[in-house]
Amino acid sequence: MGKIIVMVGAPGAGKGTQARLLAEHFGYPQISTGEILREMAQADTSLGREIRELQAAGRLVSDDTLAEVILSRTSQPDCADGYILDGFPRTLKQAAMLEDLARKQGKEVVLVRVVVSDEALMKRVTGRRNCPCCKEIYNIYFKPPKNDNVCDNHPEAQLEHRADDNPETVRARLATYDEKTRPLIDYYRKDGLLQTVDGRGDAESIYKEIVRIITAQ
Ligand code: AMP
Repeated sequence: MGKIIVMVGAPGAGKGTQARLLAEHFGYPQISTGEILREMAQADTSLGREIRELQAAGRLVSDDTLAEVILSRTSQPDCADGYILDGFPRTLKQAAMLEDLARKQGKEVVLVRVVVSDEALMKRVTGRRNCPCCKEIYNIYFKPPKNDNVCDNHPEAQLEHRADDNPETVRARLATYDEKTRPLIDYYRKDGLLQTVDGRGDAESIYKEIVRIITAQ
């Protein structure tokens, strides 16, 4: 049965980094709702403006919009064997959508929670820099590029700093996480569905641990 691998965790826990590695390992596409919404936010439409404002404020985009995004993306042919969700679900309503979707698509949901202390999250998010070409994720504190602000693999590319990765918005995003997304952890834990991984070590060892968990299922 195809799998839907779901990365759960606060902003900065390392969901995106791990989702990238897992996508390569399993040959599944990585579906980052934050990334899809950032692209949608560039449109000069009322929906584009709304998403832009919500992202800038560190608040969640509506469940209805997410339903459309997830339905249309996961019905693409590259998702037929399975896919990795990075940033979805983030509310209890979205969790219910996911259950419904998995049932309809005949897929098994595997949830992996990456845990990092609250103190570490701020530095991990504000220090984050991304390569616009290969999407490699760096961190100026923990994983700096070899040369200042350019990707190791694409020296021509200046690294990008997400507009919502500033301390003020990160504080709002962490508060949103506590209010809307943390309840999911209890919801999944109660059903024994959640596998938890310590997100403190290096990305490679965490990735190996996650692969072990997923293949053991
Ligand atoms: P991320 O890249 O996952 O940190 O997401 C960046 C921003 O996109 C979030 O702060 C939200 O504004 C929005 N977003 C991403 N995924 C979701 C989701 N599943 N539900 C609602 N809003 C989302």
